[in-house]
Parts: sequence; structure tokens; C-alpha cells
Amino acid sequence: MKPILFNFTETELNEFVAKLGQPKFRAKQIKDWLNRGAPNFQSMKNLPEQLRQDLDACAQTLPVRIVKKLESSDGQTTKFLLELNDTEQIECVLMRTSYGNSVCVSSQAGCAMGCKFCASTLLGLKRNLTVNEIYSQILVAQWELRNDKLSNKPIRPNGDANNDDVSHIVIMGTGEPLQNVENVIGFVERANSDMGIGWRKITLSTCGIVPGIKKLTEWGRPINLAISLHAPINELRSQIMPINNKYKLEEVLNAAFEFSDLHNRQLMIEYILLGKKNSSGEVELFNCTSELAEKLSELLKNKNCMVNLIPWNAVDERDFASPSGNAVHKFQDILIKNGIHTRIRRERGQDIGSACGQLRLNNAKGE
Ligand code: SAH
Repeated sequence: MKPILFNFTETELNEFVAKLGQPKFRAKQIKDWLNRGAPNFQSMKNLPEQLRQDLDACAQTLPVRIVKKLESSDGQTTKFLLELNDTEQIECVLMRTSYGNSVCVSSQAGCAMGCKFCASTLLGLKRNLTVNEIYSQILVAQWELRNDKLSNKPIRPNGDANNDDVSHIVIMGTGEPLQNVENVIGFVERANSDMGIGWRKITLSTCGIVPGIKKLTEWGRPINLAISLHAPINELRSQIMPINNKYKLEEVLNAAFEFSDLHNRQLMIEYILLGKKNSSGEVELFNCTSELAEKLSELLKNKNCMVNLIPWNAVDERDFASPSGNAVHKFQDILIKNGIHTRIRRERGQDIGSACGQLRLNNAKGE
């Protein structure tokens, strides 16, 4: 297997370049390109052609390789299917928005959590990603933004055209970040120090691993925390999220508010709206009845949080259904009436494999 130069220390890269009979400054040039996300050696324009060819023959750039790239019809969202060195696959998504360029990264190949509505967990957990594998996903996005600029693509809707770097990170791709908490923290530290991405522009989403949340509290950086709640009572939550058998709703929320209150941040609550088809094919509300909206309001009353309502993205293998727009608004209205901050999440790039994990899954099935 060819060595991955991005994983080399400075000394290792210097030695590698010396062995190819090259002066030391080439190592610095290569490192600069790698830090900008160069996917191959051919794009390293200040290296001599012969060296680029030699490097292509004996080394790799990043620990991820783009297998598939899909762009939404409005050009604002790009979804990448990436292959790791051991052929595992992950996804990451670049979203060009009016407030900046946001990248959704994966923290694991696959997922062990078994949530009943999610595509990412259908093939089980393969492994944790390394810091470099997570970090490379933002480099892939950064390189894409560079290409936008070179091809004069209008960068963002109503955006500040001068800011064409990755500005926001959401750790909401495949995997449960708090099952890989050491590497995720290493990644966030690095995104902050090397890419200058502010703590407050980084959001970590978890299904509720309480020891992991406590670890974030000890770590002490003021990132945003999102909790995938999806039900306001334990009985229902355990039916759709097996992790709830281990860490109960109240325990998860206590740990989460301890974290967000410490940093004076609003806690984000993710709430997917699920329906189920009955025998006559009609969609019945599953976790989004009026009664459950009242229960959710009680649970979050007077707390500093924002509820993101997410209409479910269909996953063929899962027997849920999306509730109607009316049902979604009715659920939201009850929260608003009860003084709970809430918004309906605008889904991006639905035309390019909507649900998280879908791209990897379909590729594994050969579609
Ligand atoms: N494991 C972490 C992060 C990955 S999932 C977590 O559970 O938070 C990111 C978000 O997408 C979670 O809120 C998750 O519940 C939600 N999600 C999963 N499948 C979805 C689907 N089919 N439609 C809409 N949202 C989904």
C-alpha cells in the first residue's frame, strides 16, 4: 500500500523527499498543498513534472479518496462518498449557505447505535475514524471551494463572496462522535488551531452517550452541542433508539444542559418527525402527536434550547413514513404556544441522496 504523505510528521516528510533526491524545500511545498486538500500530486503546480509523476507512482496524498461526488441542482450542496485506505467508505457534505460554508463530517465508518429510522447504522459499525481521516473531510470541502473560485462559480446564495473557506463544521455525518470522543476532540482542536474555525462554529450531534457528554464538559471548549432526542418519553424513545435503554432521557438532558449552560450556549435538540403507515396505507403520527408536543414542551420548559424539527428523510429499509406538512406545522405550533424556541430544518441537497448514510449504503448494494 502506498504511504499517505498527509499522515507523515515533518521529519518523515523531509526524509521521504531526501530519498527521492529532492531538496528540503520540496517537503514544505508538498505539505502546503496537502494542507489545502490537494487530492493528487498532479495538482501541485509548483513541483517539477517529473517529481509529480514519481510521487504519483509511490505515494498518496490524503487518507481519503473521492469515489463519488454529487451536486444538488441548485449547486449549493455537494455530497462526497469517500474511500479510506482499508476500502471502508464514509460520506461528507459541503453546504454553501448565506452565513458561510458548512461541512458535515463523519466520525465513524458505519454506526453501532441501531437507531430505527437511520440509514447509517444498517451495515453496523466498521470502525472509528482517525483524527486525520476526520480532518481530511474538511480538506476535501476546502479544495472544492477552491475549485468553485477557480471556475468562477457563484460561491454562496446572498453570501459574502470574499469568504470562500470552510467556516462551519457539523459533526453529524455517519457514526456516533461520542463513541470516538478522543479522536473527535483531536479533530476539533486541530480544526480550530490549523484552520482557524471558531469553537462556536462547530456543532457536535450525539444520540446521548452520557459519559461522552461529561467528557466534553471536562474538556471545556464552547462548541455547540446537539442532542438527537426524537421522543419526549422513555418508553417511546427506547423503541426507536436502543441507546435509551442505557442512558435515559432525563440523564441525557441533565448532562447536556450542564454542558451548554456552562458555556452559556443554547442546546440544540434534534427531533425527527416520524409517521407509520397503517394497514389501509394512511400515515399515522408516531412521535409527533399533539399530546407528545405537550410532553416535549414540559420537558424543555424554561430551558435554554432550540428544537430543530426534521421531517424524516425516507430510508427504504425502514418502515416509517414522513408526516404531512400540516402535521409538522401543528406540532410546531404547540411548541411555540408553550414558549419553546423551534424551527423546521431546511433539508439541503435532497435531490442527491437525502438521508444521512444513504450514499454509502447504496454504493455497498451496488446502486
Ligand atoms: N450519531 C449522531 C450524529 C449522526 S446523525 C446523532 O445521533 O446525533 C445526525 C442527525 O440526523 C441525528 O439527529 C439523526 O437522528 C438524524 N437522522 C438520522 N436518520 C435520519 C433520517 N432518515 N431523516 C432525518 N434525519 C435523520
